[in-house]
Amino acid sequence: MRRVSIFGATGSIGDSTLDLIRRDRDGYRVVALTGGGNIAKLARLAREFRPEIAVTAYPERLAELRAALEGSGVAAAAGSEALLEAADRPADWIMSAIIGAAGLPPGLRALRHGTTLALANKESLVCAGPLLLETARRHGATILPVDSEHSAVFQALAGEGLDSVERVIITASGGAFRDWPLERLAEATLAEASSHPNWDMGQRITIDSASMFNKALELIETKEFFGIAPEKIEAVVHPESIIHAMVAHSDGGILAHLGAPDMRHAIGYALHWPERRPLPVERLDFVKLGSLSFRPACETRYPALRLAREVMQAGGLHGAAFNGAKERALDHFIAGRIRFTEMADMVSRVLEDLAGSGALAGGVTLEEVRRVDQIARETADAALRLGTAAQ
Ligand code: NDP
Repeated sequence: MRRVSIFGATGSIGDSTLDLIRRDRDGYRVVALTGGGNIAKLARLAREFRPEIAVTAYPERLAELRAALEGSGVAAAAGSEALLEAADRPADWIMSAIIGAAGLPPGLRALRHGTTLALANKESLVCAGPLLLETARRHGATILPVDSEHSAVFQALAGEGLDSVERVIITASGGAFRDWPLERLAEATLAEASSHPNWDMGQRITIDSASMFNKALELIETKEFFGIAPEKIEAVVHPESIIHAMVAHSDGGILAHLGAPDMRHAIGYALHWPERRPLPVERLDFVKLGSLSFRPACETRYPALRLAREVMQAGGLHGAAFNGAKERALDHFIAGRIRFTEMADMVSRVLEDLAGSGALAGGVTLEEVRRVDQIARETADAALRLGTAAQ
């Protein structure tokens, strides 16, 4: 029986992961489930899957979690230390699906135990790619990508060296506003940005898809995880979301990974790797599909892609600054404090300020990543107060 832990169990990736585990209850023993503010859901999942421990990220919600778990035999814990302790519990496979930079410390801790880490939390690689990979290498741990595009590249690269790779093409649905005229984007509302044409995901990543900050993170993630040069990484808009990524080789051949837009494919692939097992995902019917289409990923419509290119070129702590500023800009958009198009302005401003002040000159250690994440958020807040984000 495989021991599994799920960090971010109450989210969208958590749902898809637990759906697969639920279908093979005798195959898995759940060690830890973690969540954030959705205590009722965390308690319900804990009662269903009977982990050793359920952890909420928020210490002030511990009493509520304890009460909800009373009599279940499942231990309750809370806070960032408790998340790290949950990552210390022996497990064969750990899903890293906390959203945002908060996912980095538990994932890093899990790697120190030589486990297999299924990495949905793309922010970990964006903020601290070299640290994550070096930690995995040192402790004999395995990182398996769960982002559908990176799972696709991973599968397309299987058995191939990087020497012959000419290009990696990451596809993007184009998000909620792909067909909007450019001049309307500044008026986009939260509700409009929170609805995705193809994928059913959490709210934050859905908005990031509309702004293409999600794709920007994925471009950086591609560079960090596979060690591919930034100039070989491209994004292309593919509205049907059937091809998840393509790897173009020097002999002119291109390997593409296709599948229905359902995260259970990438999660299931990581869960069963290196085997392939049947998964409950839709099978493609090409005659029904008829055609697949592609458009350029225009950097005027999606300035986040230009910023990603700058971050990939700069490397080091620029990824942590980019992500911290992006998370804060997203908070401000969700709270109605800035417009949709001002998110990219704010991130650009923060990157410029921090690079100019020498704040991004250090090495990629956990302490430095935390420091940069913090000042990126503070700088974003200061830009908001001063009204300079869009200048
Ligand atoms: P959701 O917002 O649906 O879920 C996020 C999870 O993280 C929830 O369990 C949430 O708890 C928990 N959480 C939120 N804040 C914190 C915190 N500060 N500390 C600890 N836990 C916290 O996100 P998704 O499932 O959509 O995404 C998860 C990760 O996977 C992200 O990094 C995303 O980029 C990546 N990803 C997601 C895809 C998708 O299809 N959804 C596709 C590819 C990658 P609670 O809800 O209880 O507050």
